[in-house]
Amino acid sequence: MTTLFEKIINGDLPCEKVFENDRIIAFKDIFPKAPVHILIVTKKVIPNLQSMKEEDLPLIGEIVKVAQQLAQEFGLEEEGYRLLTNNGNHAGQVIHHLHFHLLGGGPLGRMVG
Ligand code: AMP
Repeated sequence: MTTLFEKIINGDLPCEKVFENDRIIAFKDIFPKAPVHILIVTKKVIPNLQSMKEEDLPLIGEIVKVAQQLAQEFGLEEEGYRLLTNNGNHAGQVIHHLHFHLLGGGPLGRMVG
């Protein structure tokens, strides 16, 4: 089944894009949980972290680089930010297409609520 993020990647759904290259797209979360809440999404269809194959692992390094760049652009470097991925039901993953949340711009509270 096509996920909502595939529709965004294919241009069938709008998004507030903040980064894009051949492998990764990043856009603002539609229901932000922090003053800055950006989703960093692989263009390759990978359901979650656990299902990544060996050949996909370089994407993790690239996601970190994109997060660093966006943190700089959005002024998160000094006070800090959180980069996380929800893997599966217990983590509350809703969209089964690999993505990382970049959160910041204010105190984020404890890691697990
Ligand atoms: P997760 O719970 O980790 O699967 O996160 C999915 C995220 O996607 C949630 O934070 C939603 O607010 C966000 N989201 C859902 N629909 C959209 C959309 N159309 N554009 C941007 N973000 C979305």
